[in-house]
Amino acid sequence: MDSAEYERKIAHRFAAFDQDGNGYIDRADFNVAAARLLAEFGTAARSDRGQALYTGAEAFWQGMAGIADVDGDQRVTRGEFVGGAVKRLRDNPERFAEIARPFLRAAIAVADPGDHEGTAPASAPVAAVERALRVLGAGADVASVAAQSLDADHDGRIAEKDAVAALSAYFTVIEPDA
Ligand code: CA
Ligand code: CA
Repeated sequence: MDSAEYERKIAHRFAAFDQDGNGYIDRADFNVAAARLLAEFGTAARSDRGQALYTGAEAFWQGMAGIADVDGDQRVTRGEFVGGAVKRLRDNPERFAEIARPFLRAAIAVADPGDHEGTAPASAPVAAVERALRVLGAGADVASVAAQSLDADHDGRIAEKDAVAALSAYFTVIEPDA
């Protein structure tokens, strides 16, 4: 892959995290992502699922900061993202899955319209995941293709483990056709 293509892919991934578009990744971006998901699915922030999503978002941010915020200013710049998040996580994709899992688990619970009182559902409908990707900034085409491809066994639902693996791969494996 040439360097322009690599830069473009990095820029896409950085933009996916920089939810408020201010040029750096910080705690606010994770809170914005949580708020967007809750609004899309009509879930109250003070509900159990809402609180779980914010808790997961905070854990995701803390994990990201621990890996990538080299100067400790509570902001991950694009340079820190490239040097820390992408390079270090590429060498340790399990680490990314670990920091992202609580957020994804909570997001799946929010996106699943079923009643799962007291339990975390392990999967969400494909259409709901597509809505979640769109509200987090993915284009309609990308969201549709990504959601379909996540349904590995074609049962119409996306399992937590597949969502975790796909997100981990998206952020840690940067290839020409990734
Ligand atoms: Ca930001
Ligand atoms: Ca920093």
